[in-house]
Amino acid sequence: MRHPYAYEHGNNLYVNLTSLCPTDCVFCPKRESGRRFRGHDLSLDGEPELDEIWADVLERAARRSYSEFVFCGYGESTYRLDAITQLSERMKKFFPRSGRRLNTIGLGSMIWGRDIVPELAESLTNVSVSLNTADPRQWRRLHRPRPEMRAGGFEGALEFVRSCVLSDLRATVTAVELPGVDLPAVERLARSLGAEFAVRPRLTAAETS
Ligand code: SF4
Repeated sequence: MRHPYAYEHGNNLYVNLTSLCPTDCVFCPKRESGRRFRGHDLSLDGEPELDEIWADVLERAARRSYSEFVFCGYGESTYRLDAITQLSERMKKFFPRSGRRLNTIGLGSMIWGRDIVPELAESLTNVSVSLNTADPRQWRRLHRPRPEMRAGGFEGALEFVRSCVLSDLRATVTAVELPGVDLPAVERLARSLGAEFAVRPRLTAAETS
């Protein structure tokens, strides 16, 4: 069976670029769900080619219009920076009325060793950063980042949000409802960075089957 590179949820079309992650988040449903989300199997056989993904997007977008295209799967999309920028340029050209959002853990600039936000800001309209806490130690416990990102990862994610705001990308900091997380503190931190804030309920078993 061919796994979808693009999958629908609500009024949006989600684009699934990679299975690679710089973190191993304790709240990630992918282990229990076998990488399923609302009836879609989001597992990938390797990394799909840009034109394969675009063909999938075009096929779906020919049938209906979407509020947003969203780069999001069970992986960190910024590992495929070129694919994001090229696909979102095409989306901007062919479907200018739809938004173009990246959902991210906020470590893309650490992955690439440079601030990637100006490149993203060329064609994306908004970014959603999954921060989940205002406490650096709790951030490490919740996200279990790769060793090279343990010390600076939290600050790196904050810097990513700051850069989005400076680049006029609409930025939303999100937090999953988890025990022990001080959500008002996350909201205060988000607002202090110039970002919006949204709470995300933890996915239910029904949503990940
Ligand atoms: S970044 Fe997303 S896909 Fe990766 S481990 Fe965390 S929750 Fe799961």
